[in-house]
Amino acid sequence: MEPGRTNWYATVPEATTAEQLRGYFADWHDPIPRILQETDPADWVRYEMRHLYPALLRFVHGPKIALVGDAAHAMTPSLGQGACTAILDAEALARTLARHGRARQPQALAAYDRERRRAAQRVAFASRTLHRLMTTEHTGLRDGLIRLLP
Ligand SMILES: Cc1cc2nc3c(=O)[nH]c(=O)nc-3n(C[C@H](O)[C@H](O)[C@H](O)COP(=O)(O)OP(=O)(O)OC[C@H]3O[C@@H](n4cnc5c(N)ncnc54)[C@H](O)[C@@H]3O)c2cc1C
Repeated sequence: MEPGRTNWYATVPEATTAEQLRGYFADWHDPIPRILQETDPADWVRYEMRHLYPALLRFVHGPKIALVGDAAHAMTPSLGQGACTAILDAEALARTLARHGRARQPQALAAYDRERRRAAQRVAFASRTLHRLMTTEHTGLRDGLIRLLP
């Protein structure tokens, strides 16, 4: 990103208007309200948030198909870990394929599944839990728990 430019995102209910969104952050510290005010809503991009739940029972299908990244464990963006987890998947898959060789590809995929599935799904679970906390209507409970975080 060029110097002097930034980006932001917020998680809000689908029907939220630009004014409502600015209102949510109106009493936050500078420069947050200013940035929201100065961004033209015509430039805002709205994404419908989706995550993969329930979790997959396997990341591997047959001897030739392995899922990595969001295809395997699309998660809420609350922890900022989706792309990081995808990179770990790709590294593990490349490594297990290199270790087992083409002749033992099913074993390589099984090893990939063993190494990555539980680990990735733990991150997705943590992200989902944080998302639920961040979007709860019980804001007192949320604020109390956030204060307990290190
Ligand atoms: C608002 C937001 C903030 C985020 N912040 C972070 C962050 O701070 N840190 C982090 O680690 N992650 C973050 N993520 C998550 C991260 O963006 C994703 O987890 C990551 O991009 C997943 O990578 P992927 O390669 O699995 O999938 P994708 O990035 O979705 O790549 C899939 C690609 O496949 C292409 N494709 C789809 N169908 C076909 C087809 N039939 N043929 C050919 N191509 C096809 C798509 O066009 C796309 O280019 C964030 C996500 C969101 C929405």
